[in-house]
Amino acid sequence: MSYQALAEKYLVGSDELYEDRNPASPSQVLARFRLSGAQDAKGAIERAKAGFEAWSSLPAPKRGVILMKAGELMESRSQEMAMLLTLEEGKTLADSSAEVSRAFNLFKFYGALAFKSGGVTLPSADASTRIMTVREPLGVVAAITPWNFPIAIPAWKTAPALAAGNSVILKPASKTPLIALMMLDVLVQAGLPKDALGVVVGKGSTVGDVIAASDDIAALSFTGSTAIGEHIYRKLGGKKRMTRIQLELGGKNAVYVEKTADLTLAADLVVRSAFGLTGQSCTATSRVIVDREVKEDFRNKLVERVRKWKVGSGTAPDVNMGPLVDESQYAKTLEYIDSGKSEGAALVYASEIGVPKEGYFIGPNIFEQVTKDMRIFREEIFGPVLSMTESASEDEAIDLVNAVDYGHTAGIVSRNHHVINRFIDEVEAGVIKVNKPTVGLELQAPFGGFKGSGATTWKEMGEEALEFYSREKTVYMGY
Ligand code: NAP
Repeated sequence: MSYQALAEKYLVGSDELYEDRNPASPSQVLARFRLSGAQDAKGAIERAKAGFEAWSSLPAPKRGVILMKAGELMESRSQEMAMLLTLEEGKTLADSSAEVSRAFNLFKFYGALAFKSGGVTLPSADASTRIMTVREPLGVVAAITPWNFPIAIPAWKTAPALAAGNSVILKPASKTPLIALMMLDVLVQAGLPKDALGVVVGKGSTVGDVIAASDDIAALSFTGSTAIGEHIYRKLGGKKRMTRIQLELGGKNAVYVEKTADLTLAADLVVRSAFGLTGQSCTATSRVIVDREVKEDFRNKLVERVRKWKVGSGTAPDVNMGPLVDESQYAKTLEYIDSGKSEGAALVYASEIGVPKEGYFIGPNIFEQVTKDMRIFREEIFGPVLSMTESASEDEAIDLVNAVDYGHTAGIVSRNHHVINRFIDEVEAGVIKVNKPTVGLELQAPFGGFKGSGATTWKEMGEEALEFYSREKTVYMGY
């Protein structure tokens, strides 16, 4: 099916005309379609309410079979899906393939978990009573997702939500709607009943707001920027019914390169986590706190590796990073590079050689002498810009790691177990990586940010995700 046909098959839109373009070659239009407006979003919620009955009444193991089948079909279509992901978002084909694998494994994982979804039995103080809990779906739940993992994030919300028996409204980012539609296409092919999942493609400020404000939405899982997450959180206060909320937000992740670190390992991990996916990952390394004693060696190793980094279209062989997703991300990244220079940081590496001129390409940029009052230290850039700050002690390093409003992921490279354990205990972040890249999460492990990086209500992924998408009833049964 062509991308245009995919859009026409699944989209209901009466708002403005939209052109979905390839960020590596912006003159290439992948599909043209009308965005959904407020009324279209309301219609989708009504359909999802109708779809809930059939889906929730299907026994959980039967729901599981459909989801596992979707995972298998997605695996069989993974090349087609990875190509669309690269054309729409810009990441390299290798990164897109890894993301599609994540998505199909999520459907298999939650499909299998549907077979054992249920409650617990507990002893009672009364000899003729049995206590048990029963897990139930919530109703219509909504997922609002960003563009940077445009199939993995919709999958890690949709798969547990459907496994638990909810019908789902998915509002993907406007920059990357087609890959979400392809996921819907696979689920339909696997036998998902009509209206168990509705994908609404429209502007966040219109359809996102309608979804977040709807009293028919029992739970809302949002991943995106902290600013929009906070806007949604405030909006929920005006609702008649309380909505269960999960917010996974921005990050400003630091890696502490401690003085006992293997510096070759540290440079490898930081390059991969700072510039892989063009820095457009919520788990990207955006700051390095490096011990004064090893700063020079570490910086030299870093620059040596970055020089070999290849920037180009994600479809080209051997590229390490693709373009920024669109013009606004491109302009925002350039603005932060200017701000780093004007605030007095030293730009020790700026990649220009070999960076294509057409498309939204910016190569790796590394600043040092970055201080904690600078914007490039504190604010999320979401592009290939790394800030280095020197520390004189482990106390200072931990303070610097914590000295931002975010708390998504933090890493340490060290051979000193005392320092590593202090770091685990004292750093305020939802994910800690020790001698590992900050990027990369496994689906069986729960995940969620602290401080400005998340609401810390419910975790995503792992078995824990099913708790967010279900409610527990307690039964006292006398016999
Ligand atoms: P964004 O601008 O916050 O948008 C996220 C989603 O919210 C999009 O679908 C967007 O729709 C929608 N939206 C916008 N305004 C809305 C409103 N008023 N009401 C309801 N929904 C609204 O974020 P983004 O630029 O797509 O993604 C990048 C951000 O996501 C970064 O901050 C990154 O750190 C974060 N992120 C976090 C995680 C995590 O797990 N913590 C993972 C990945 C990304 P439109 O596309 O139509 O604007």
